[in-house]
Amino acid sequence: MPTASTLTRFRCTICDSKRTFKSKAGLQRHESLKHSNYKEIPAHILLVPKNELYHIKNTMVKELQKRLKNHYSKVGKQVFSIHCSENRFVGIFGQYLTRYSVCGGWYQCFFDGEEAIDQLTKIFGDNQWAERNYGNGQLSWIKLYENETEQATSESKFKPKKKFYLEKGLLIEWRMKGFSDKAEHRCESGEVTFRFVVDQDYFGIEANRLETKTYI
Ligand SMILES: [Zn+2]
Repeated sequence: MPTASTLTRFRCTICDSKRTFKSKAGLQRHESLKHSNYKEIPAHILLVPKNELYHIKNTMVKELQKRLKNHYSKVGKQVFSIHCSENRFVGIFGQYLTRYSVCGGWYQCFFDGEEAIDQLTKIFGDNQWAERNYGNGQLSWIKLYENETEQATSESKFKPKKKFYLEKGLLIEWRMKGFSDKAEHRCESGEVTFRFVVDQDYFGIEANRLETKTYI
């Protein structure tokens, strides 16, 4: 006969061992330690029609583009969230997951390097998703990789255990978020959060000078 204390313990369903944990936090620590690469899509996910996914993808690109501002003060870390159901998130990013947490019910995807541009171009169906053109050589973009000089002076920049430590790449996470009031009425909904770094540069001056020299 199981006792009350064994009934309230938490068990890891991924490794299916008999080991149990006193708290959900303990189970979460075990998952992070032993199953940090787990990315099986859970069985409860439902298919979402393509036109619905198309709409939410366009919303994501629009919200990313809104953060690519044309001012030096807007360079650096950016974070924003939009409402998105779990089914929609998995419908879009399911085959690109870097982690699914069974006990937390959250998902994570991380894209970086030059190949990230092509991967997300394919996902979003938009080949300009990562940059915004302000004309006359002025560009703002999502920094997905470092050039050779930057690489020489830095190590790998993605450290998921820190709250937000990202110097390149695009970290996309989905989880339920909400709050409760004093009567324990809880409100919650699914949110997808984007974390990235914005860079910008002006490519006009040098190009114009070279042109002038050619004509003199
Ligand atoms: Zn386990």
